[in-house]
Amino acid sequence: MNEVIVATRNAGKAKEFIRMFEPVGITVKTLLDYPDLPDVEETGKTFAENAFLKADFAARSTGRPAIADDSGLIIDALDGRPGVYSARYAGEEKNDQANNDKVLAEMKDVPGEDRTGRFMCVLAVAFPDGRDPIYAEGRCEGIIGFEEAGQHGFGYDPLFIPEGYNVTMAQLDPEEKNRISHRANALRSLRAQLPELAGEPE
Ligand code: IMP
Repeated sequence: MNEVIVATRNAGKAKEFIRMFEPVGITVKTLLDYPDLPDVEETGKTFAENAFLKADFAARSTGRPAIADDSGLIIDALDGRPGVYSARYAGEEKNDQANNDKVLAEMKDVPGEDRTGRFMCVLAVAFPDGRDPIYAEGRCEGIIGFEEAGQHGFGYDPLFIPEGYNVTMAQLDPEEKNRISHRANALRSLRAQLPELAGEPE
């Protein structure tokens, strides 16, 4: 494998993948290099299914191995919600404020010790010849605060207090978040499988 498509139009995410693949001689392209490819509907019931749907579509459309991620927040007191529906929990796609308001309202009577949860990220690598995909998973454990705090990051960051910290993810320096995040942990897990990936014949 000498080139991989990262199925995202998010430049920040792309940069993390470039940092991982270029040192081992694999060129990274993203969907920004394929502006005509449509977005894939995330109809899966799990992070792995959605990551695979996106990676598989990109691999078959481009004829290159492709990687996609899917991620979200799992809250124990809400039976795992918002989960795969994290981006559109309050209805509208990617309205972070509405999503955070909904979580806080649903958890207003949940005491501190029961406010546990985790961010999860699953990466899927799909191949154009349809051979078995490779998966990597990462988590970041924490608790859900009683109110929003912090300006950094995105999504549920202002509500999420990572284990071992007494500030929210949105109060952390972005570099610190990038070290401890679910996505960083998934990338580490994928990197552990890299020798195998880099050695794959075309
Ligand atoms: P996606 O997998 O990048 O589409 O993310 C799905 C949704 O999960 C986002 O829209 C956010 O609501 C939430 N999410 C994923 N990762 C994070 C994170 O690092 N911080 C806060 N929210 C996140």
